[in-house]
Amino acid sequence: MTKTRPESTPTSGSCRIQLAGRTVQLAWLREHTSKAAPLFARARAEVGHAWCLCRRPALRLVIRCTRAGRYHLAGWPQEGEQHEATCPFHKLGPGHSGRESYSTQAIRETDDGVSIRLATPLARSLDRPETHEDARDEPPDERNARRTVGLLGLLHWLWEEAQLNTWQPGFRHRTWHHCHAQLRRHLPDATVNGQGLDSVLYLVPPFTPQAADANTAALDAFRTRLGRHGPTEQRGLLLGQIKEVAPTPYGVAYRLAHQRTPLYARAALHTRATRSYRHAFSPTAAEHGARVALFVVERSPGGHLVAADLAAMLTTRTYIPADSSHEVVMADALAACRRSFVKPIRYDSADAVLPDFVLTDLHPAAYVEVYGIHGRESYERRKAEKRAFYQRQGARLIEWDVAQPLPDLIHPERRRPGPNA
Ligand SMILES: [Zn+2]
Repeated sequence: MTKTRPESTPTSGSCRIQLAGRTVQLAWLREHTSKAAPLFARARAEVGHAWCLCRRPALRLVIRCTRAGRYHLAGWPQEGEQHEATCPFHKLGPGHSGRESYSTQAIRETDDGVSIRLATPLARSLDRPETHEDARDEPPDERNARRTVGLLGLLHWLWEEAQLNTWQPGFRHRTWHHCHAQLRRHLPDATVNGQGLDSVLYLVPPFTPQAADANTAALDAFRTRLGRHGPTEQRGLLLGQIKEVAPTPYGVAYRLAHQRTPLYARAALHTRATRSYRHAFSPTAAEHGARVALFVVERSPGGHLVAADLAAMLTTRTYIPADSSHEVVMADALAACRRSFVKPIRYDSADAVLPDFVLTDLHPAAYVEVYGIHGRESYERRKAEKRAFYQRQGARLIEWDVAQPLPDLIHPERRRPGPNA
């Protein structure tokens, strides 16, 4: 019998949960959803919530049940900060995510799951002219918050829900296989413009020779859903990693990792995308990092998959989002120093003032800022704003001016061996 927790390799499933008086591993609950259903139902009826045991006293968790009767757990609103940094329900406090810029109309969390209002329509009625979401018929929001989510916002929401913007030293490496498993878990619980996210979104599965046939069948099923069905024309979403952009007579072909079938796009869309997501499409991104993209997909008359729109995000090779190639260097350096950290992501708010990285292995959390631009007034102002914010918080700040060598990133407690080491 061991009482002590293993020191290393915190994984998202190693968390203990109390459900209707019973203590179980989160990984068990996730793997045995039907076996666990009676336990969930009892806890929901008798207690009203579950407990996360990452800390004492235990913290409440919301028990959600989708319309399909699938139970799962979610963090209690505004309590994410209190969970252990390695806990899958841990969230940074206010001021650390672009998600805060949305109204509850854009992202609504209920006991059934999460409903997202995407600015891009996915189903178009052929009887009526196309309309984009119109905000004029709604009461104004007191915070002036966004009422719809853009494509980048949805991509970032998925990344943050799946905690792919966090890093723990125990991960060592993170592959597309891992990202796929984490992301897939969140699809059945969300709807986009009223449709189940798991039915409108195709998440490129990791390629293995054994799975090749099943992957092809899944992509065919997705393709069949697209296009005209009675009076509506259906579009879909596709999430994958762009491996290569190849020119075609009409534009480009996006070749994706783990998938043979490319996505085609007109030259104008690609030109716009490289301007809007210049870091993701920069040559350094292809060399040192990865680029993940969320596409709006249509089916061409010839049966090809055609991108009607897209949002792209630069990440490290281990899929931590980065706002520039310098941030890729910093994220890799932090991981190499075995730091635990979170990369705050901005969603659709390009001008949100967020820390570049948050170190969660220090209490209070410390911040990392990467300074890549000099002399631009707006940038200098933002830098001053951030410094003042950290000073007010009394938080430790590590700064890196990219013209200089990287600062010392080793955890203070590991810098010199202690007297008992
Ligand atoms: Zn917890």
